[in-house]
Amino acid sequence: MKTKLLGKNPDELAAAAVDCGLKPFVGRQLAEWLYVKRACSWDRMTNISRESKARLQEKYDLGTSLPVASACSADGTVKYLFEVEGGESVEAVLIPDEDRRTLCVSSQAGCRMGCKFCMTGRQGWHGNLSTADILNQFISIPGAEGLTNAVFMGMGEPLDNSDAVFKAIEILTDERCFGWSPKRVTLSTIGVLPALKRFLDGSCCHLAVSLHNPFPDERLEMMPVQKAWPLKDVLDLIRQYDFTGQRRVSFEYTMFAGWNDDKRHADALIRLLGGLECRVNLIRFHKIPDFPYDCAPEVRMEEFKNRLNNHGIVCTIRASRGEDILAACGMLAGQRSQS
Ligand code: SF4
Repeated sequence: MKTKLLGKNPDELAAAAVDCGLKPFVGRQLAEWLYVKRACSWDRMTNISRESKARLQEKYDLGTSLPVASACSADGTVKYLFEVEGGESVEAVLIPDEDRRTLCVSSQAGCRMGCKFCMTGRQGWHGNLSTADILNQFISIPGAEGLTNAVFMGMGEPLDNSDAVFKAIEILTDERCFGWSPKRVTLSTIGVLPALKRFLDGSCCHLAVSLHNPFPDERLEMMPVQKAWPLKDVLDLIRQYDFTGQRRVSFEYTMFAGWNDDKRHADALIRLLGGLECRVNLIRFHKIPDFPYDCAPEVRMEEFKNRLNNHGIVCTIRASRGEDILAACGMLAGQRSQS
């Protein structure tokens, strides 16, 4: 099987060129075609000679692959299905919004974190995505050049596949590649502590933490991760970093009727996050089969939001996108659905 060029950084692309008996600058050309111009075929690489391409093709594939299906929501959200290495399927979701086109990216096929409210978690873990499979989501969707932002909030826990995800972020933010500012990238995690420290030390991208309940025993009921890496330890780590400047930390709080939506929870959350420069996003829960809880009533969500805001914590209710095509938070399952 040939090695993929996609997923290599410019130095590695230069080494691949040299490996084929070509000059290192061919590596720079490859980086530009793949990451700046989002070229999905050798034919588009017009400034690389036919002979050079033939030599590269003896050992390497580009590594790009088009989505195998897509579904479009009434609100403009589009879900794309990709087949990845190992034969698994994952989804990426494009969320257009006024001047932004945000891609919600998957990092694993399934997930082993086992959050009870999540369709991806219910599938179990079927493998990590390679850096090539992660970046392919940025390159192979229609209109890829127009993407403005990325959130690592699709299928999987990004910090459970940290090497591949960090390499993808490195290539996204490398001026010789995508050249994105770290401010355009948000990584969402339930709090995988050792990899979180590496992320906070090694990048300036925004962080989103799935919090969902301020009480350890209650959080543990739905999120097994609480046992290995308690929320308190995650917050202790986050408090060691500066979020008063360009970099932001937000907390995701999906609201379930009767589980985490009353005044007691709001007050505990206020105490927990007190003094931290952050934002809380309240998320409507989208009902999934065989799960006892419904979404909290709208009035409860408003009360919760107002209580936090009145105590100095910026809190908003996140607009739901793509619910009709099962593309909203917690609904991704890597299944084929037709537009
Ligand atoms: Fe995994 Fe995130 Fe779903 Fe939890 S919520 S099971 S971490 S994909």
